[in-house]
Amino acid sequence: MTKKFTFRGGSHVHEHKETAGLKTVRLPEPSTVSIPLSQHIGAHAKPVVQKGDTVCVGQVIGVVESGLGCPVHASVSGVVKEILTRHNAQGVPVQNIVIENDGLHTMCPDIKPWEKPLEETTAEEIVSIVRNAGISGLGGATFPTYAKIQSAIGKADTVIINCAECEPYITANHRLLLERSEAVIGGLEILMHALNAKEGILAVEDNKPDAIALLQKAVKGKEKIRVCVMKTKYPQGDERQIVYALFHREIPAGKLPADEGCMIVNAETSAAISRAFYRGLPLVSRIVTVTGDCVKEPKNVRSPLGASYRELIDFCGGCVKEPKKLISGGPMMGQAQWDMDAPVTKGTSALLVFSEEYDKINQYHSACIHCGRCVEHCPMHLMPNYLTQYAQARKYDEAAKFNVMSCVECGTCSYNCPAGVPIVQYIRVAKGALRAAKK
Ligand code: SF4
Ligand code: SF4
Repeated sequence: MTKKFTFRGGSHVHEHKETAGLKTVRLPEPSTVSIPLSQHIGAHAKPVVQKGDTVCVGQVIGVVESGLGCPVHASVSGVVKEILTRHNAQGVPVQNIVIENDGLHTMCPDIKPWEKPLEETTAEEIVSIVRNAGISGLGGATFPTYAKIQSAIGKADTVIINCAECEPYITANHRLLLERSEAVIGGLEILMHALNAKEGILAVEDNKPDAIALLQKAVKGKEKIRVCVMKTKYPQGDERQIVYALFHREIPAGKLPADEGCMIVNAETSAAISRAFYRGLPLVSRIVTVTGDCVKEPKNVRSPLGASYRELIDFCGGCVKEPKKLISGGPMMGQAQWDMDAPVTKGTSALLVFSEEYDKINQYHSACIHCGRCVEHCPMHLMPNYLTQYAQARKYDEAAKFNVMSCVECGTCSYNCPAGVPIVQYIRVAKGALRAAKK
């Protein structure tokens, strides 16, 4: 029997993976795209094109001159219509480059495969390829991947591809594993070469038996790579839970997986690395699961970055019910959106559209009844009930003493709270106040 890995705490949430059997389909070319110059953690990029310029697919349109950050590329060919500022999902004003699509899909002439075989490529060259391709964590975290590789060099000897996809509803990674497993494994091999790693692991939850079987077949004969089957439990996709499940090692507060010898990237990020290395393609599109009870025909859609949420939802037949909530990402960690015309970015793993019937969270919020369920289920072994009380009383220093900054905002506590206390929201307020005070 296959050994199954797991972690302590967490929850068995309703999976709702109804779109897992639906092949990825390509969004028809949008007439315009609005590409934000910040789709990653770090400094915003600065535009290097002007209104009226002609651009082609994969052309650099924004650069980060110094510090952490990724370049931004055009996802369609056409003419720059305008450069405007719009607020992103966090309410931060970000410059967007709006491109009128000429429908010709003219590729940038700079796009060509890397000139050397992998064995002759240095770690620094791989860092540079990944940086130039604008790749940031596609699981939703959007941390620049080149910086992750850089910081893991000399520290990590194990590369883990995070194929858990533990958030309910999202099946974009599942489809990628079934349809492009060679790209996911290719990215893993590139990362293993960069880090001179002794082992590569594809970590998949056991609710994807077809993907597990396919990956096991695909890695047969690759001695350093193995497929590890994880028990389906939320939040198995959190990096700390993966490391604990696989090696029973806890990552201390303030440390990273690389400090425990591991580098972890999401499956779609791995595929993007492979595309950048073998085909020279920068990151200009991603797979988005579009679903929810309002959506007529849920789909997994490959969308160019910058296409609007509305276009994706219309492509899925539009809404059959009055939408109450639109979420970018999963229902546990995603963010509610207010603008249907907001663009798909590198962090948009899903678009969920729910009616009032499904949006009942916190409707009956009462006081804490001290049941302890939030403590029992917290994968970070925190005391969310105390953190909430301190946040409510604005005693943020007390919350800090109870390690509020270690909260990964997974939402497991809120999900399990019988009183409906919006625990994560209070925790976010406390974390924000502590960050502001530090600044
Ligand atoms: S306190 Fe933070 S880490 Fe713990 S369950 Fe709640 S959201 Fe997750
Ligand atoms: S789960 Fe809710 S009611 Fe129970 S202790 Fe935690 S905050 Fe209080």
